[in-house]
Amino acid sequence: MRVAQVAEPGGKFDVVEREIPEPGPGHVRIVVEASGVCHTDAVFVQTPFPGMKFPLVTGHEVAGRIDAVGEGVTDWASGDRVEVGWFGGQCGHCRPCRQGDFISCFNLKVPGWAYDGGYATHMVAPAEALARIPDGLDAAYAAPLGCAGVTAFMGLRNSVARAGDLVAVLGVGGLGHLGVQYAAKMGFETVAIARGKEKETLARQLGADHYIDSSAADPAQALKELGGAKVVLGTAASSAAMTATIDGLAPRGELVVIGVADDAVEVKPLQLITGSQSVSGHPSATAAEVEDTMAFSARTGVRPMIETVPLERGQRRLRPHALRCGPFPHGADDRPVTEPRRGWKVPLPPE
Ligand SMILES: [Zn+2]
Ligand SMILES: [Zn+2]
Repeated sequence: MRVAQVAEPGGKFDVVEREIPEPGPGHVRIVVEASGVCHTDAVFVQTPFPGMKFPLVTGHEVAGRIDAVGEGVTDWASGDRVEVGWFGGQCGHCRPCRQGDFISCFNLKVPGWAYDGGYATHMVAPAEALARIPDGLDAAYAAPLGCAGVTAFMGLRNSVARAGDLVAVLGVGGLGHLGVQYAAKMGFETVAIARGKEKETLARQLGADHYIDSSAADPAQALKELGGAKVVLGTAASSAAMTATIDGLAPRGELVVIGVADDAVEVKPLQLITGSQSVSGHPSATAAEVEDTMAFSARTGVRPMIETVPLERGQRRLRPHALRCGPFPHGADDRPVTEPRRGWKVPLPPE
């Protein structure tokens, strides 16, 4: 099999041959058909996380087909179409696991961190990490739903918003372009917020009822004029942009933070107290919820915007300094990469 591995922290991806691994007890082997590129993959390569081993094979948005099952696996069979997302399995014995809160597992097994991920022709994963891909959803479209998709979907699904409420999605990038689609399909009056006018056409095509150009108008004031947002889904990797929406929340409204940034989201107590607003975070979600995300997407027509390239050309797309979440226009392979994305797939060429 072939894997795109990074030999050392900060290194570049090399495609190398390896022995095809056998799945151990409770595991399956997957023939990878597509693997999404997430911003976190670049972070893993540049800044190794605790317990990470090099050479590293990243990739935690993986779609493919089972071709071998290990001992004790009863619910999955060869030929099943499956996805493995950020949730790559739980330890089963930590406090959150004992409480049934598997996504909060202290020893969460993230593919490409805890074990080799999907930038490969084959991958072995524990059975509890598997989500069934519905018919009608191609692997390349399914792949990014295992991280970007499920995070946006569950961030909205677990929020305080009810059908018909005004819901704003901050950012129309890798997470946000999915968030806008999910918000619209869930029946929310959907507001997209981004900098500049350029994203407006796209946002409206994705289902937004309103568009706020945050470089031309105060987003909080604009949200207030629409009646106040029950939920702002903060997908933009900008704490300042998230901070700027808080005063636009309706009473009992909620800012749901899912975009990652290093600096602080700032809020004064009185911004939250008077109207009982809250600021919360949302992680990814379990394999069962990835399955829900894919089923919802297949049924309602939500799709990530993707660009596909072969595994061998992945390095070009992974220059970490250039990585930023964002949907990608299709383009020639030698086009300079200036704003990479989450929704980018790596379908593998035939052996
Ligand atoms: Zn991810
Ligand atoms: Zn655990």
